[in-house]
Amino acid sequence: MAVAEQELFDQANHIVFLTGAGVSTASGIPDFRSANGLYTQNQNAEYYLSHRYFVADPEGFYEYCKNNLYFPDAKPNVIHEKQAALTQQNRATVITQNIDNLYEEAGTKHLVDFHGNLYNVYCEKCHETVPVADYLKSRIHEKDGGNLRPDIVLYDEGISQDAISQSLNAMANADLIVIVGTSMKVYPFAGLLQYANPAAPILAINQQQLALPVDFKMIQADATKYFADLTV
Ligand SMILES: [Zn+2]
Repeated sequence: MAVAEQELFDQANHIVFLTGAGVSTASGIPDFRSANGLYTQNQNAEYYLSHRYFVADPEGFYEYCKNNLYFPDAKPNVIHEKQAALTQQNRATVITQNIDNLYEEAGTKHLVDFHGNLYNVYCEKCHETVPVADYLKSRIHEKDGGNLRPDIVLYDEGISQDAISQSLNAMANADLIVIVGTSMKVYPFAGLLQYANPAAPILAINQQQLALPVDFKMIQADATKYFADLTV
């Protein structure tokens, strides 16, 4: 941890963390899009995780989600914990592409689940929410026979208006933006950078070098080590 970077964190009051799969891989959850991830092992992930497929083959969709997306034993790691601590001080907002509920488990106070959350499950027929434990036993809503689904953004669905407005608001008010564990290639998430307060410095902490359409400081590092060293 460079002293200048620690000072940036110490002096900021409106930090925005833009995060992705690299934060979850440190908790043992595979990255969809990385070299060894689900996405490359199965070229049809985009189809299996579409609303079109959910409607066409509810059982297949259910089996796919259950077998590939849920990691109920995964625990938050030091990246989640340090970021959560900063949100509890009302000095940070986390905007994440991750759908695994680990930020919630870490006690993150200001959090935007940009792509939804696997652990919020509802019935598409009556819109009632049900416990995830029920969903993992059956895809059918006992009450009305409707199909249950996780509240995640499928490939052919749009981002929720709430998530967009909260994200844009946080970006416009940010005094430090920190990209962690994402290559910022997936839109519309990647487009959030265009809405950043121009006065806010941007740091990117990632194992691989990033190319971004904005001025930023690249910190090529293991994010778990970086956040372990960060004093919050
Ligand atoms: Zn129902």
